[in-house]
Amino acid sequence: MFFITLIKFLGITLNPAGINQRGRIMKKQPALFISHGSPMMAIEESKTSLFLQALGKSLMKPKAIVVFSAHFDRVNDIVITAGKQPKTIHDFFGFPKPLYKLQYQAHGSPELAQQIAKRFQEAGLKPKLDEQQGWDHGVWIPLRLMFPKADIPIVQVSINSSLGASHNYEYGKLLASLRDENILIIGSGNISHNLREFFNPTFGSKQRVTAFATWVNKHLSNGQVAPLLNYLDEAPDVLFNHPTQEHFLPLIATMGASGTGKAEMIHQDIERDILAMDAYRFN
Ligand code: ZN
Repeated sequence: MFFITLIKFLGITLNPAGINQRGRIMKKQPALFISHGSPMMAIEESKTSLFLQALGKSLMKPKAIVVFSAHFDRVNDIVITAGKQPKTIHDFFGFPKPLYKLQYQAHGSPELAQQIAKRFQEAGLKPKLDEQQGWDHGVWIPLRLMFPKADIPIVQVSINSSLGASHNYEYGKLLASLRDENILIIGSGNISHNLREFFNPTFGSKQRVTAFATWVNKHLSNGQVAPLLNYLDEAPDVLFNHPTQEHFLPLIATMGASGTGKAEMIHQDIERDILAMDAYRFN
């Protein structure tokens, strides 16, 4: 108690374990954007798999995790997972058999799903709770590396690639204050995602990916939200890097949950000269 009183007297703020006005310890989580890459990361060591393992160990253990995943894109509704024990979905084709045997048995949190739904309702939106939806591979593959014990409940909130960046940004904004309740928010997508190029690369792809990833980093590191929301018009080679938008929008939703839009790059790699695997931390 003396310690807390002293901290209050001195006006010191501690993060991530800060002290609120009532003198209680607050646990504020960051918002993270991670690139999940190929499903092979679940069974093959890579720079990114090692990074995710270390990242999980470096974080204060969250009470729950809310994920915006590229593979939970719903163009007609806002959908929130609300099952108690969602299944592991192997939503990829033609990969080695061992991948299809892997499971990630983290629980869901119907209570947190309800709280999130209320936030969307209060903003005039009509979210739907889905008790059947399982964990897609944009969720379980990176989280299995970060939190192998699978002992932290998860709720997924869908993105909407038909509505553009600003709507997805608003979804994230609605959830920003959950971070003050020791809830970790994660966007899982890719900084670049052109699968045709991944399987049949053309000359110069790495330069085009690097130019796009550098542009993203410049604006995130300076907290410049407007150009990122307008990325389809402003970013270099955007349709080469994202022929479809679902792998970029989790970054935009996470930026919404950030408060400032300012992020620190915490991982950088380009796999096979085409798949930018960068990760960002918003404090
Ligand atoms: Zn993906």
